[in-house]
Amino acid sequence: MSRLRLILGDQLNPLHSWFSTVDPDTVYVLMEVRSETDYVRHHAQKILAIFAGMRELGRQLKAAGHRVRYVAIDDPSNRQSVTDNLDALVSHYAATHVEYQAPDEWRLDAVLDAWGKAQLAHGVAVTQVDSEHFYTTRDEARALFKGRKQWLMEHFYRQMRVRHGVLMDEDSKPAGGQWNFDQDNRKAWPGTPPEPADWRHPHDHRALWSTIEAAGVAHFGAPQAEALAWPLHRGEALQHLAAFVQHALPHFGDFQDALTHRGWRLFHSLLSFALNTKMLNPREVVQAAQNAWRDGHAPLSAVEGFIRQILGWREYVRGVYWAHMPGYTHVNHFGHTHPLPGWFWHGDTRMACMKHAVGQSLSQAYAHHIQRLMVIGNFALLAGLDPQALHEWYLGVYIDAFEWVEAPNTLGMSQFADGGKLATKPYVSSAAYLHRMGDHCTGCPYDRKDRLGPRACPFNALYWDFHLRHDGLLRRNPRIGMVYRQIDRMDEAERQQIRVKAAELVRHLDQL
Ligand SMILES: Cc1cc2nc3c(=O)[nH]c(=O)nc-3n(C[C@H](O)[C@H](O)[C@H](O)COP(=O)(O)OP(=O)(O)OC[C@H]3O[C@@H](n4cnc5c(N)ncnc54)[C@H](O)[C@@H]3O)c2cc1C
Repeated sequence: MSRLRLILGDQLNPLHSWFSTVDPDTVYVLMEVRSETDYVRHHAQKILAIFAGMRELGRQLKAAGHRVRYVAIDDPSNRQSVTDNLDALVSHYAATHVEYQAPDEWRLDAVLDAWGKAQLAHGVAVTQVDSEHFYTTRDEARALFKGRKQWLMEHFYRQMRVRHGVLMDEDSKPAGGQWNFDQDNRKAWPGTPPEPADWRHPHDHRALWSTIEAAGVAHFGAPQAEALAWPLHRGEALQHLAAFVQHALPHFGDFQDALTHRGWRLFHSLLSFALNTKMLNPREVVQAAQNAWRDGHAPLSAVEGFIRQILGWREYVRGVYWAHMPGYTHVNHFGHTHPLPGWFWHGDTRMACMKHAVGQSLSQAYAHHIQRLMVIGNFALLAGLDPQALHEWYLGVYIDAFEWVEAPNTLGMSQFADGGKLATKPYVSSAAYLHRMGDHCTGCPYDRKDRLGPRACPFNALYWDFHLRHDGLLRRNPRIGMVYRQIDRMDEAERQQIRVKAAELVRHLDQL
């Protein structure tokens, strides 16, 4: 009997129970295929880091005595599709069993499920096993929210805290007497404490990058192949986690929502790539943060704010994804259709906040949460950009972007394109919020205080126009009543001026 075990590019967990024994009849299969690189155009660093991480895991498994079949992108036998390669390998190894860890993406799940069923006719048993990564199962959020119209993250998060005993006192009350320290976590960053030095370890991957380019894989963004700095195996990921806890976690809470042109990730962890490729388990990250609080190294507000992202948001968006797929990636509540301006691909816009956030996304394959939500996403929603085009851009550009986590964040949280399944109101703002949370407006050629003049910050007219345009869909939302009270105080001439200014901005998106 021979058995194949497929390891996907986001399943780089060397601690999976699969690897606890060495079996000479089991062949571990990793493959670099165009069907996975080409479904959207990806950032160069994302392709490079995933391939380099897969190669590293393949090497480690071999070194531990496992049999490994690594199908490289330029391997002449590579049929460039997961299932075509599996067909060839089943035949080559005369395999009677194939196992794969549950994919996180609906598309691949469906492809492998269909392929597995078809194998039965050939006498090959195909089994899906747990990826042993998440706290929750795919269907848990759906069960928790059954019958509820609104899926409140806070409700989910509190259940998770209790069930997993995270930040809980002995009397089953939340540590510090409160569940949520969000109010303490909204400071702008005055420039101190300094952004910690980059704790990552760059590696030279120029040879691999040449191979990827020669294979013709479509890409954009800066490869930084000579100094690729994302963790490529569990050992590095653990070092990154330790460095984050040591140097940044104590300030994570205070400046979680801050924006600045003087840094690129402030006190954020940069752990999403290691988490989403499963080099790290969310439990160990949560535990490390919790220990930092118990040891007196980081305040509770910072630790709670950080844990909420992982135990709360990360598991919750996964539940939203599985509950609403297929179909979720096509939602478009507001019917927005404008194509992305060209500067999404080169970063050359005069809006200082957008230039920084988009430019950094292209150079680093990374932007922190508030850049993604309140800068790029905010602009896209106000300007009425096509949510599917935006979804593809986000899915391609970020090092950590995998559809199960990217789509609910982009289409749900950021674009409200699902009509409010996961956000209680659209996350939009005018220049006032951006100025309050950051330092981009100082020195920006646009005037943050002006709404209609030639130098007016585009966020202002677009903000009011968004609410005017979607009056029918938004006015009854109690969380935005204030906005409509202000609109009602405007006279019709003022409303018309806003509409005209916004239409002009949208006509010239490429020139902003
Ligand atoms: C429009 C948009 C698109 C996004 N796309 C992705 C994506 O493709 N992949 C992705 O992992 N995250 C995504 N996020 C969530 C979040 O922005 C990133 O997880 C975070 O910026 C990653 O950087 P970090 O590791 O430094 O995070 P930190 O700020 O240090 O947070 C710690 C960890 O919490 C988790 N986390 C934080 N916020 C969220 C969230 N909203 N949803 C799920 N997990 C969260 C991540 O695992 C992250 O590593 C998106 C957010 C928005 C608004």
